Order: sequence, then structure tokens, then C-alpha cells
Amino acid sequence: MDADGLSKSSLRPTVKRSLERALAGRPLDRDEIIELLQSHGPEVEALRAAADEVRRRSVGDAVHLRGVIEFSNYCRRNCLYCGLRAGNGDLERYRIDPDEIVDIAGRAGKLGYRTIVLQSGEDVTYDADTLVWVVRRIKGDLDAAVTIAVGDRPRDEYKAWREAGADRYLLKHETADPELFSRLRPGTALAERVEHLRWLKELGYQVGSGNMIGLPGQTIASIADDLLLLRELDVEMAGIGPFIPNDQTPLADRPGGSLDQTLITLATARLVLPFAHLPATTATGSIDPRGRQKALSFGANVIMPNVTPGRYRQDYRIYPNKICLTEEPENCRPCVEAIITSLGRTVGRDYGHSPKAGFGPGRVEPTA
Ligand code: SF4
Repeated sequence: MDADGLSKSSLRPTVKRSLERALAGRPLDRDEIIELLQSHGPEVEALRAAADEVRRRSVGDAVHLRGVIEFSNYCRRNCLYCGLRAGNGDLERYRIDPDEIVDIAGRAGKLGYRTIVLQSGEDVTYDADTLVWVVRRIKGDLDAAVTIAVGDRPRDEYKAWREAGADRYLLKHETADPELFSRLRPGTALAERVEHLRWLKELGYQVGSGNMIGLPGQTIASIADDLLLLRELDVEMAGIGPFIPNDQTPLADRPGGSLDQTLITLATARLVLPFAHLPATTATGSIDPRGRQKALSFGANVIMPNVTPGRYRQDYRIYPNKICLTEEPENCRPCVEAIITSLGRTVGRDYGHSPKAGFGPGRVEPTA
């Protein structure tokens, strides 16, 4: 879609102007973002088409695959929305041995994954040296980028992993509302999380953050603040997915986030963060059988298939009814490729680094 295409649509003038500004590459302000987040009727299709166009121009047609290894479901935190919370006594816990993590990564490499994501609850049993060893082994054995997602750690541990060769770090901010953040994540503060995200940027990581849609007590203005925070942090990736209530958590009875609001937020995020990688999240695919396809047409350009062996998957239960729980990695890969090609898109064959300057092929040196 271009600005001419918009002129034929019956949109509110404010929405039309915002889409025209975004298509012309101008930054949107908070009021414009709030307007877009409230898109309805024909405005949703206009927003989708604009996001798809900006996605095509900024990051192209390739969809990058990240193979996720969920190596431990232990967590020291007690986030109200998450099934891995320490207080959940109904979850079978597991830890995957470092040697087996490296083996799983090798299996993913053979399937063609060029990014391995090492993800866990906040489990400090895996100390800095253990993860340095794992990162070095994977980087030594495979031609792949490595992403770490193990939550809050001291700055020197982030630095050690970066120096061991880790390329990216995922640390979602979840909500930019400081009061809601501390209510949902007892004992933690948004300011600390943002400080950690700034450290990660300073250390030269490609940084991923992101937020949930439909959290109890969240407002549209607060979602706009999420997008503004992501822009201020200049993230390389933003994961945006629905809140899904988990029956093993204190939020079991709360309504979940809607697919519509998730997709509208994703499309708005594409306009606010044109060059960021935006995943079609597993959570989005878990609330709608075609959720990931829809997300790809609303601005997303990444899918993060699970490469954890089937025997562990059922117990990495952040939320219920997660897709692909009984699959083995060998089955997921063709399924995901079929989703991508059915949309006329291509499967990314390189590392899928950020398109921003300085993150091209090869190592990115730490700056601090
Ligand atoms: S959201 Fe993360 S930190 Fe919070 S309980 Fe779940 S795994 Fe732990």
C-alpha cells in the first residue's frame, strides 16, 4: 500500500494521516500510536497493508527462523502470569545437562537453523562459566548465531557471554507501566529491567525485548508506551504476544489477550520500529490455529520454532495449550517452512542478524 491507496479508504482522518506519515518514513507520536492501536473496521486492513508494506521495504520477504532450546524450567521468580513461577508446585521440573544442550544445538544446526536460542527460567544453577562453556561449544561447532534468554543476571555475566561469542540477548520488558510491572513481577522493577536492557546494548548485543497484550489492568495508552519504550531502547527485536491465562497461576481466571488486539499492536509496532525483527510468536499461534500466518501478514518476519526434544516440551509450560508440544524438531522445520512459503515469503538462510548498520555478517565487537 502507498499513500494513494489510502485515499480510497474510508478511514478516520487521524488514522489516515498517521498511516501516510508512517509510509513516508516519519516517526509517529504517542497520540498517533494510540489512534492506530484503536483501529477498527476497515482501518484494521489499512493498518495491516501499511505494516506489510513497511515490513517488505525495511526487512524484506525473508522470514528468519530461530531454533529455541528450552533448557530449564526452574525459575527463582514468581511472576503472576507465568507457569514456570517458583510457587507453582504442580509443574514437573527439569534441567538439561550442558552436554545435551550442545547436542540439541547440533541437531538443530543439521536441520538448517542459523540461530540457536538458549532459553530458560531464571535458573542460576547454570552459572556464568557453564553458559560461557555452552556458548563457546555451540559457536565452535556450528555456523550459527547464539541468542541467550535467561532473564536478569549481573552485568559481568552478560559481558562474559558476549565475549564468549553470544550475539543476541532476549529480555522482554513485558509492560512499560511501572506499577503494573511490579504487581505482576513481585520483587522486581521496570527501572531495573530497563537498566539491564541498556547494559546489553552497551555490550554490543543485538537486543530483543517485547511485551504482552491483554494483561490485567493494562490500557491502550500503556501499550503505546510499550512501543515507545521499544523505540527509545532502539531494540533489534520485539516479541509481542497475547497474555494467555495459566490455570496454575494466580491469574487463572483472568481473560486472555485477544488475537485482534495482538495483531493490531504488531502492525503498529512495524510502523514504529521499521527495522526491528518482529516474531510471529508461538503464543499468537497458540490462541488461533492460523495465528502465526496472520502475524506474518501483520508485519512479522521471524518464527521461533521449538527445537527442544519432545520429552521436555510439555513441562516448559509458561501458558497452556502451547502449539507443537508433542512434535520433535525434525517435524517442526518442514511445517514452519510450509507456513512461510504458503504466504509467498522465503525462508531466511543466513544468520538473520539485525539489518541495522553494524550488525551484518560476522562478529560484532563489544563496546564496553
Ligand atoms: S516470566 Fe520468566 S522470570 Fe517470571 S516466572 Fe516466568 S520464567 Fe520466571
